[in-house]
Amino acid sequence: MPMLKIPGHERQRAREVSLDEIRAVLGDCRLCGLCETRTNIVFGVGSPNARVVLVGEAPGANEDAQGEPFVGQAGHLLDRMLSEQTRIERSEVYIANVLKCRPPGNRAPAPDEVMACSPFLREQIRSIWPDFIMTMGNPATHFILQTEVGITRLRGKVHRAGHFAVLPTFHPAAVLRDFGKLPDLEHDFYLLGQLLRGEVDPDDPTAGSAESMPGFRPSAPGEVLR
Ligand code: SF4
Repeated sequence: MPMLKIPGHERQRAREVSLDEIRAVLGDCRLCGLCETRTNIVFGVGSPNARVVLVGEAPGANEDAQGEPFVGQAGHLLDRMLSEQTRIERSEVYIANVLKCRPPGNRAPAPDEVMACSPFLREQIRSIWPDFIMTMGNPATHFILQTEVGITRLRGKVHRAGHFAVLPTFHPAAVLRDFGKLPDLEHDFYLLGQLLRGEVDPDDPTAGSAESMPGFRPSAPGEVLR
């Protein structure tokens, strides 16, 4: 991945560059063709000191219109998972996407778009330097873990990417299309809460097993999302 040079910084060590400086470099970015169809660049939102960064795929229609990630129905479900399962608020995490501009019709990100845009996400993560990264959906998971393995096989367990403990899960929008995935989404956000509270060791291979989360109560099968 190409390095993103931030003016005024020689080494760009972890936590050395601020999110505002990265946003200033992004400017009115025209590095890929998505600049032609976007309404707003959706940079990211949340705490610069967050212990967890949540990474999605790309802005949808609501996000493109408002300039903020996860503000539509998927965002509502994400907020609910954070408060009910993880027991933290949206303001305590940082949320960003692999792509900062909406692909037309919400199509999947193209490889050249990921190549062009991902250095900004990389610097955002290095700026915050969280303990945990939760990837939501295949594109975010594939980018962070550098794998082509599908999300269904990767989710529910903790993976390592250097300093970061990575917890892949479904994209909330995928759960809205298939409510059968809701208990798995709840499981993964519950596990995130356990990790943040230090109740389980991220390097313990049993983290995420039924034995390691005796207090977890998923929604009943078929329960309709509120
Ligand atoms: S998607 Fe990323 S690289 Fe492409 S124009 Fe938007 S901000 Fe720039």
